[in-house]
Amino acid sequence: PPVTVVLGTRPEIIKLSQVSRLLGPRGRVVFTGQHYDPSLTDTFFTGFRMPAPHATLRGVGGTSQIIQISRMITDLGNQFAEERPSAVVVQGDTNTVSAAAQAAHYCGIPVVHVEAGLRSYDRNMPEEINRRVAGTVTDLHCAPTATAMNNLLGEGVDPHRIELTGNTIVEAVQLSLPPVEDSLRFLEHVGLQADSYALATIHRPENTDDADRLRSILTELAKFPLPVLMPLHPRTRGAALRAGLGDALDRLHTVDPVDHRQFLSLARHARLLVSDSGGVQEECTVLKKPLLVVRNSTERPEAIQAGFAQLVQPGRQLGKAADAMLADTGLHARLAVTPSPYGDGHASERIVQAVARLVDRDG
Ligand code: UDP
Repeated sequence: PPVTVVLGTRPEIIKLSQVSRLLGPRGRVVFTGQHYDPSLTDTFFTGFRMPAPHATLRGVGGTSQIIQISRMITDLGNQFAEERPSAVVVQGDTNTVSAAAQAAHYCGIPVVHVEAGLRSYDRNMPEEINRRVAGTVTDLHCAPTATAMNNLLGEGVDPHRIELTGNTIVEAVQLSLPPVEDSLRFLEHVGLQADSYALATIHRPENTDDADRLRSILTELAKFPLPVLMPLHPRTRGAALRAGLGDALDRLHTVDPVDHRQFLSLARHARLLVSDSGGVQEECTVLKKPLLVVRNSTERPEAIQAGFAQLVQPGRQLGKAADAMLADTGLHARLAVTPSPYGDGHASERIVQAVARLVDRDG
């Protein structure tokens, strides 16, 4: 029986695209529809030339976390019980991951967790709980870095169940990154000049669900001494409008979410990145760009240790950190020669090989 790859959100499509390509006819994709806005999904399926999903669940997007997870467990559980995949692969820390890992486990199907072992040690983040829940029922943990592997070992996970693979984002970036001339043409199209703007993305609940916090981020970005381009996640747009922050948005250069090629084009020519995204903390190390991470905590300390990223609080700390980065004239040259801590672009191959060994062993 095939290996089922379950995905539901933009970052999962990006990061599992090459795993599902390498699985080929041995794999099939189930899409849960957790992200239901086409700007977060369609362009990613087509951009990575992914085959249409074998199955798409009834819509769960936009509902509460408990409804999402319980419905997905039910629907995926029914499907797994019927189709008996030889393994179920999930990636990251979304509600989809929690639900699919539990559904597979309770159906007696081996669970493979890609990007296993990340820890922010911040129980207020829904992502931290999702990745820990998934990790509890995981049979093969694909750890992207030594730090992640050591977190798992420290929690008593059997070393034979851990594979140190690197992060699949590296090969996803290598595949999505267009030739420089194409990126520059895209910049021109959106009216920007290379090295003269900041690129910002904000979408985590910790930043969007608290109106004061969101206001302080948007108003601080508007004070930056260079233009700020902000592809707006639907959640952020909705939260900003509900909180009466339309004015603050107007002072930034906002656009709808862009596809991965376009995002990387914008990121590679930016002077500075600002984000609360997980994936962008990894991508900055491949693109060799400085990043301010607007969060209380991060489960990706490697980018900070390597000098690419810095954790900042909203408000004045964000503005001051941006000023310091802009004043550091040697920064870009230093980052240009710093290797990415997230791997060599072959993580997906290692994952697929480890899955094959798992299936051979358990089957
Ligand atoms: N991204 C994109 N277009 C955008 C904003 C982000 O393609 O307009 C990509 C970005 O390159 C990264 C991924 O989306 O690979 C990050 O997804 P997101 O921030 O939604 O989730 P997280 O990484 O925080 O789980």
